[in-house]
Amino acid sequence: MGKCIFCGIVNGGVDCKIVYEDEKVTAFKDINPAARVHVLIIPREHIEGIKQAHGKDPGLIGHIMRAAADIAEEENITNTGYRVLVNSGPDAGQAINHLHFHLLGGEKLKAI
Ligand code: AMP
Ligand code: ZN
Repeated sequence: MGKCIFCGIVNGGVDCKIVYEDEKVTAFKDINPAARVHVLIIPREHIEGIKQAHGKDPGLIGHIMRAAADIAEEENITNTGYRVLVNSGPDAGQAINHLHFHLLGGEKLKAI
């Protein structure tokens, strides 16, 4: 995906603060944080969204959730709490068509 900004982050061409990387995922600080801790966790492979993850590596979503818990630990928000979410499609405001999980915490989050 030549023009995908998150593929650019995975490939090192786009500058950002990476906080975690392994063979399947990359995680980095959100450029416009919605909470004191706001990390995006993405598959290294370009997958457009939740629907397109169907039929891919069946362990991927679980792997991402485990990475989220590990990053939360690293960010010292395990005990205070955090939220992990995906925006899918226009009603949710998905702005970038490369699957990404938001990890939010470090402060009291608005109830949803
Ligand atoms: P979403 O609305 O779920 O598609 O979320 C996209 C997120 O990506 C937003 O929270 C943006 O602030 C964030 N974002 C966009 N470009 C970058 C970038 N270059 N580096 C880090 N975060 C970004
Ligand atoms: Zn991409």
